[in-house]
Amino acid sequence: MPGIGPRSAERIALWMNQSRDARAAEIALAIEAAAEGIRPCELCGFFSTGPVCEICGDASRDGSLLCVVEQATDILPLERTGVYRGRYHALGGRIAPLDHVGPEQLRIGELMKRIETEGPKEIILALGADVEGDATANYLADLLREKPVSVTRIAQGLPAGGGLESADELTLSRALSGRRRIDNC
Ligand SMILES: [Zn+2]
Repeated sequence: MPGIGPRSAERIALWMNQSRDARAAEIALAIEAAAEGIRPCELCGFFSTGPVCEICGDASRDGSLLCVVEQATDILPLERTGVYRGRYHALGGRIAPLDHVGPEQLRIGELMKRIETEGPKEIILALGADVEGDATANYLADLLREKPVSVTRIAQGLPAGGGLESADELTLSRALSGRRRIDNC
């Protein structure tokens, strides 16, 4: 299992075997249920136990905002912020020619279909701040130019709690170019 080294595995195995609190059968069932019962949402690609996930099925979410992420797992930290109430679309990766991933391997056709049927007003690109993330963002921005939606990209800059002296030049230059007026906050 990823993230569990030999020492942790040994500790878990011993705990399962020796502790009365370790409900091994229940854990086994839970793992089995998770492995078999969780599938990608047909709309957004997020984890779901039914055809459509909880977020897509939630009528109180703001349908005018559609946030595009690379992977379904990217939705988790965004949801934890609690500030975003729109919907999501996971591409299933990003354009990476070196890894032989082109636009046709991503859920871009599904995204275009959702824009037609759901009519969001703003597409927020929450993609990685690296070469592949940039390539994917540029590709999507080109593709969406003719559509009646505004396309935005999440800001890139300094991490919370970080000083300028610890930031690299690329981060700083992006923070500078993404600056905004203080009275707009
Ligand atoms: Zn969904």
